[in-house]
Amino acid sequence: MTQAAEPTHTTLRQPLASEFDPAQRPWVYVNGEMYPKGQASVSVFDHGLLYGDGVFEGIRVYNGKIFKLGQHMDRLYECARKIELDLEKHVSRAEMEAIQRRCVQVNGIRNGYIRLVVTRGVGTLGLNPFNCPEPGVICIADQIKLYPEEMYRDGMRVVVAERRKVPVESLDPRIKSLNYLSNILAKVEAIKLGCLEVVMLNIHGQITEGSGDNIFFAKNGELFTPPCDVGALEGITRRFVKDELCPKVGIKCTEKVFGLPELLEADEIFLTGSAAEMIAVRQVDEHTGGKITREHKISDGEGPITAKLRAAFKEVVTGDDVPED
Ligand code: PMP
Repeated sequence: MTQAAEPTHTTLRQPLASEFDPAQRPWVYVNGEMYPKGQASVSVFDHGLLYGDGVFEGIRVYNGKIFKLGQHMDRLYECARKIELDLEKHVSRAEMEAIQRRCVQVNGIRNGYIRLVVTRGVGTLGLNPFNCPEPGVICIADQIKLYPEEMYRDGMRVVVAERRKVPVESLDPRIKSLNYLSNILAKVEAIKLGCLEVVMLNIHGQITEGSGDNIFFAKNGELFTPPCDVGALEGITRRFVKDELCPKVGIKCTEKVFGLPELLEADEIFLTGSAAEMIAVRQVDEHTGGKITREHKISDGEGPITAKLRAAFKEVVTGDDVPED
């Protein structure tokens, strides 16, 4: 591969793996070059930083394979399109995939996590995104810290956030944008009450998802999850569980709009996400202004349906044929 004077996304340099000192991991891809952790940075004029103007993906690496890479790329390019960013014009899917594989390789990741960020790029101080000629691309491949193992067995406690989900009409939560402030502030409600995740309702009182995970509940042997048009991200893990694992283990899963009373009647609740994978919820608490008003026990630890699906999940991601579709 020839080396251009001005690196671009299309001219990712291919230095020898030995050039990447393991002590400086993770080596991070930023706009055409690899930088050691301590030197990886972006311009203060990048609209990703100035306005949260951009989109991103969180992706898992299992056994050296990039899990559901195809679906993550579909979502990334679709989300870019929804924010009026023609990503394909600047970085092809093949290049985007090569960037990720390079980061996985130089950081020696067999099991880990990829954070892929596409920003609007460097522009002026004004809002106008069209003053940013080139999108920014950042790729970090690193180890991942999941929730503690016992939390998967015992289930987690969550709170119902007072903060409502941003309405679809304002900023569609199906866009995985760099605007996570509303989710962060909802998560803060949970953290202040001693737990790690929330259940978020939309402005109509319908259950949407967590701050960084989709939600499912089981009732009388069947599974239910909200349709994403209530205001939830179309999670890749959600789709994997609903469309692949459920048929495999013979559990019926249906999309359904529901509110808090129905959720609280569930036999089991679990959350899904690339980082969390699948995790049971054992208790859902309600609060007002930081004071717990009601506690609702759902199950004693992980229930049988969640356990069955999680075992099926584990089987796929620890196998030799981790799907990259
Ligand atoms: N909802 C939100 C708000 C998220 O940020 C995420 C990803 N962390 C998810 C759901 C789960 O999506 P995925 O399964 O694609 O990771």
